[in-house]
Amino acid sequence: MAEIDMKNIVKKYGDGFPAVNDVSIDVQDGEFMILVGPSGCGKSTLLRMIVGLEDITSGEMVIGGKVVNDLAPRERNLAMVFQNYALYPHLTVYENIAFPLRLAKASDAEVDEKVRAAAATLELEEHLERKPGNLSGGQRQRVAMGRAIVREADAFLFDEPLSNLDAKLRGQMRTEIARLQKKLGITTVYVTHDQTEAMTLGHRVAVLKRGLLQQLATPRELYEQP
Ligand code: ADP
Ligand code: ADP
Repeated sequence: MAEIDMKNIVKKYGDGFPAVNDVSIDVQDGEFMILVGPSGCGKSTLLRMIVGLEDITSGEMVIGGKVVNDLAPRERNLAMVFQNYALYPHLTVYENIAFPLRLAKASDAEVDEKVRAAAATLELEEHLERKPGNLSGGQRQRVAMGRAIVREADAFLFDEPLSNLDAKLRGQMRTEIARLQKKLGITTVYVTHDQTEAMTLGHRVAVLKRGLLQQLATPRELYEQP
């Protein structure tokens, strides 16, 4: 686990207005941080700079006390859960969850132990032999999280993971994600444009507008201000 310290992060695409403009956010070890704001405010760009999918124009990205600006994504030990889940349709749930362990050449015994532990945490034990195409949106979401769990990543990063789900499922998954994050105690950064998610899920909320950090506060502080 690790803290994520963003220091004066700037991102310019070409020579236009910065997409991310001098943003500093300190995500504590085990904290659940929300990045919220309207479309185009720079949320995804900021998240991609944490993961290493986007170069940083200036500023420092410090993860677990180490400056990671020049590290490739695979050298950062972070787990990103995408909106579309990126599951392999031809593989079973078991093999989808096992995938990062197979890549790391883990033994069959280790794979089995970790996949079953993750499946128990996520209540997916009964679905391990199924293929993603036969699962509900919520179940697919949990498989994607299972893959992140077995990697024993230092942090979870979510990019609008619930935006493709219907309202009922979104509510269920919100509860689920909050429960899991608490259970695992893992540092989490969660991008959303949904006010309800922003106000109910996180320990703190970073509000972005046109690339600028407008507010950094707990949901209660945001709620109580005039
Ligand atoms: P979102 O609001 O979910 O980020 P967008 O449609 O704004 O969705 O962007 C989707 C992706 O397209 C972004 O993640 C980014 O990589 C790319 N993108 C967005 N705006 C531009 C742009 N002006 N030029 C090139 N690529 C862009
Ligand atoms: P959000 O996730 O909040 O919707 P983004 O981070 O996707 O916002 O985009 C922030 C700004 O940067 C937008 O103005 C968008 O058009 C621009 N942008 C994003 N990705 C690219 C890109 N690859 N090339 C050029 N401009 C981009």
